[in-house]
Amino acid sequence: MRPINNRGLYMKLVLILLLLIVSLMTVVSAFIIRGVTGFYLDEFYEQMQMVFSGEQFVRDLRSAADEEDGEERIDSILNAYSGFMGIDFITRNYYVLDGESGQLLASSDNAENAEITPNIVTALTGENGYASNNTASYMDVAVPIEGRERSYVISVRDNKLTVRELTNEIIFIIIEALIIGLIISILLAFLLAKTMVIPIQSLTRAANRVAAGDFSQRIEVQAKDEIGVLTRSFNNMADRLHNTLLDIENERNKLSTVFLHMSDGIVACSADGEIIHFNPAAERMLGIDFIGTALTFDDIFGDIASLEKVMGMKSTEVIEGERSIMQRNLEIFIAPFFGEGAPGGILAVIHDVTEQRRSDELRREFVANVSHELRTPITNIRSYAETLVDAGGELPKETENDFLGVILSESDRMTKLVQDLLALSRYDAGEMEFKTEIFNTCESAKSVYEAMRLDAAKHDLKLSIELPAYAVTVDGDRARIEQVIMNIVSNSVRYTPKDGSIVLRVWKEGREAKISVSDTGIGIPPEDMPRIFDRFYRVDKARSRSQGGTGLGLSIAAEIIRRHNGRIDVESEPGRGTVMTVVLPSAEAAFT
Ligand code: ADP
Repeated sequence: MRPINNRGLYMKLVLILLLLIVSLMTVVSAFIIRGVTGFYLDEFYEQMQMVFSGEQFVRDLRSAADEEDGEERIDSILNAYSGFMGIDFITRNYYVLDGESGQLLASSDNAENAEITPNIVTALTGENGYASNNTASYMDVAVPIEGRERSYVISVRDNKLTVRELTNEIIFIIIEALIIGLIISILLAFLLAKTMVIPIQSLTRAANRVAAGDFSQRIEVQAKDEIGVLTRSFNNMADRLHNTLLDIENERNKLSTVFLHMSDGIVACSADGEIIHFNPAAERMLGIDFIGTALTFDDIFGDIASLEKVMGMKSTEVIEGERSIMQRNLEIFIAPFFGEGAPGGILAVIHDVTEQRRSDELRREFVANVSHELRTPITNIRSYAETLVDAGGELPKETENDFLGVILSESDRMTKLVQDLLALSRYDAGEMEFKTEIFNTCESAKSVYEAMRLDAAKHDLKLSIELPAYAVTVDGDRARIEQVIMNIVSNSVRYTPKDGSIVLRVWKEGREAKISVSDTGIGIPPEDMPRIFDRFYRVDKARSRSQGGTGLGLSIAAEIIRRHNGRIDVESEPGRGTVMTVVLPSAEAAFT
């Protein structure tokens, strides 16, 4: 992780505090210095005004001015009052000037001449000069004293040295305080910066961790200040972000599992036609291995609709297309999708409708077959009955009996057909119940053999039976299994020409009980083999019908055996014969 640079924050805080202190001190010192100077100035003028408004003092000066040696007398009075006026002979001095010429006559510092200040100019005109000037390097007052003969001007002048010294002293103290203050403030600034920076540092580190996808740690919060609130808010935000990410991931996993296992094919393309997602069903149905290919939407679905056309559609619109690939019928639905602010894309859903089409076809075929199978006997019955009615009993007895025989056999055929259909629909609806018991299939084979022996003989066929010395037991519905064997034997009788032979065998092979019927009949062509268990399927329709077959026998047999968890194996060679073997789980297998 990148180390966090705190110098910026530290320096900023230190600088802010320094500036604060320096500006504060400057303002304070400016105020103090101005206050002190002002106070000193005011003090000076107040004192002077007080001195020169003292009656006794002024009277003494006036009377001194009246004398011949006025200037000496004035000088000595001023000297005597020097303490009263704050004259220290260094910073503050008095000057006695001639009231006419402004010439210096006497002074406390024995100066050669005196600078003529504006106040002295005022006093020379006979007015009191009390004007103060802050900017001047001195402060002074000048008062005129009128004598009988001569007039004088007395000026007291302070060179502000004390103020300057005081100011310098104050500045020195302030600078000292400033340096100590700065040192303290630097320390404080670093301390403050640290208390602020440490939580910010840990927040930054945590934010970096969260940005890198690590949600495992939370920042400990003790502070109740704004940084504490910010840290708590950050922890809450990280929690919510984590939960939201988990939810999104969960949703994504759910979706990809659905995608992976759904029977419909899904292909998603980006707005520029690039394939961005597909599922195994789509690959299987379209016969395309998407991985490693740079196919685009137009390459795969361009014949149904172009990328431009689909992207121009509304999100509620769908384009439907059909396609036949590898003998499978596919229905393809193509629709655009748009994300908020995102470029969106296209979703294609591929639906395999082969089975649906086949079952529709089978249903149509079945209805057509049923109607056809029923119409034939009905037409026969009707035409024979009509002939009988039309003849009005005029037909020879023998012909009449023949006709009635046909009517009977046709109605028997119809009854059988209806019964078979009923049985099949019951199997389909799952309504047929089996009465299961453990029985010996050798016994069943024997009873079928007994029942069919005469029929076979009638067709000049040799029916024989080969049974093992042991019992071959199964757990099932005996009557229905015997019905199946009977059905297979009667098919052999039906499809074996005269002088042929039929053998009924029973044996056990591993955990299976096997009952086979072999004949030397016409056999079944290999191309018809897969369909002989279909409803109404017959290799030779006319032959089957003439023999009383309905085309439903084997489909019912297959259904019964399937319900017993068994199967019917068929081996056949046209012109040589057929072997049909009923294979059932042996009853012993169920107990071992
Ligand atoms: P059907 O009532 O026509 O016999 P099945 O469902 O029993 O109907 O049999 C279907 C078809 O299978 C028959 O029409 C026949 O063409 C053929 N088939 C069945 N058993 C034999 C067999 N032993 N020898 C030759 N063909 C057979």
